Amino acid sequence: MQKLQALRGFRDIFGEEVEKFRLIEGVARRYFGLLGYREMEIPVLEKTDLFVRSIGDATDIVEKEMFTFNDRSGESLTMRPEATAGIVRAYLQAGLYAKERISRLFTIGPMFRHERPQKGRFREFHQLDVEVFGIPDSSLDAELLWMIWLMLTDLGVPSYRFEVNSVGCKGCREAFRSALVDYLRSQEDYLCEDCRARMDRNPLRVFDCKNDQCAQLMRASPLLFDHLCPECRSEFESYLSLLDTFGVPVTVNKRLVRGLDYYTRAVFEVTSDDLGAQKAFAAGGRYDNLVQEIGGPSTPGSGFAIGMERLALLVPAPAGRDRPQFFLAAVGEKASRFIVPLLKAFIQEEMALSYTSGGRSLKSQMKYAAAIKADYVLILGDQELERGSVILRDMKDGSQRDLPLNVESLPQEVRRSIAP
Ligand SMILES: [Zn+2]
Ligand SMILES: [Zn+2]
Repeated sequence: MQKLQALRGFRDIFGEEVEKFRLIEGVARRYFGLLGYREMEIPVLEKTDLFVRSIGDATDIVEKEMFTFNDRSGESLTMRPEATAGIVRAYLQAGLYAKERISRLFTIGPMFRHERPQKGRFREFHQLDVEVFGIPDSSLDAELLWMIWLMLTDLGVPSYRFEVNSVGCKGCREAFRSALVDYLRSQEDYLCEDCRARMDRNPLRVFDCKNDQCAQLMRASPLLFDHLCPECRSEFESYLSLLDTFGVPVTVNKRLVRGLDYYTRAVFEVTSDDLGAQKAFAAGGRYDNLVQEIGGPSTPGSGFAIGMERLALLVPAPAGRDRPQFFLAAVGEKASRFIVPLLKAFIQEEMALSYTSGGRSLKSQMKYAAAIKADYVLILGDQELERGSVILRDMKDGSQRDLPLNVESLPQEVRRSIAP
């Protein structure tokens, strides 16, 4: 029979990486909570149309990367490739825009894209996603970057860079589009096939092309930044000055346009040179037209997503466990009867106790205790039962002492005797 294996780009996540995920989530929940963000859960599966309408049909995500299939009734469904569209849909469906002036929301969970798997990039990946509705000015955009900065500082991520840009409003983009198309036409012969197709449908996307020659050409292209209208320009300046007030150091990258259609004005990426060719591990921006495009009332929005797998690559390994691990080596049938009562007593005192079952020898149990890196072993055999005591062995130095075998008081007794 063929061995069953996980799908390509799908992973089982164990050990230190899971610990890092929990660490990142804990830090995020703490700061987001302090700043009034509410956590929510949204479905993994949505109608395909939601993503086509929000992300844009001329984007790589929608054209090439979505897990899309027809369900049994023939309806086209898609595994969410990102969280923003689903959160906007939920925001509208719950009518939050009518109930509260400002909604600060976040969600944490798996996303799905049919990409070529590479370092830190998988077909199922996890994101921490923040979306805010109802705040039109750049004070919010600066707050979002500050939140990420707080997290990265708290997590001890050693080196990263905030890159910011403005992609302007609809007006700026129209003005820029014709300048860009003129330039692309003059270089048409040198563009890759994808970009030649993008040129008319969505010329801004050429900035995101991973083809070397295209990237080279775009280094000399006209820039949206130079076509910003006066309002967008002054908005961007106040954004930069607020970031300075928050104390978040940023670099302006005029070529940063982000892969999605829905962004307006402030966009950003957080990058690290420690991640290889694809440097970004967090990104986001403002999307003042998206809610309306999905069928809601005109509502300003702004948000970001952090890639958990990629951030986990940058987070230093979590410190060891915060409490000692005890192991109970009960040898023989009589001693084994103490396992359940002692387990209950230790858990009651929030002390970590593990054991093996099945009447193994002391030697084999001590081997197991070493394998799980127990800090202390409680040894209970026939001799100890006769004496009415239990041996507490310190695995660091091998020292042992006898403690009275009293189920109720043993956890306290142990705690006293290991106290420094
Ligand atoms: Zn503008
Ligand atoms: Zn290209």
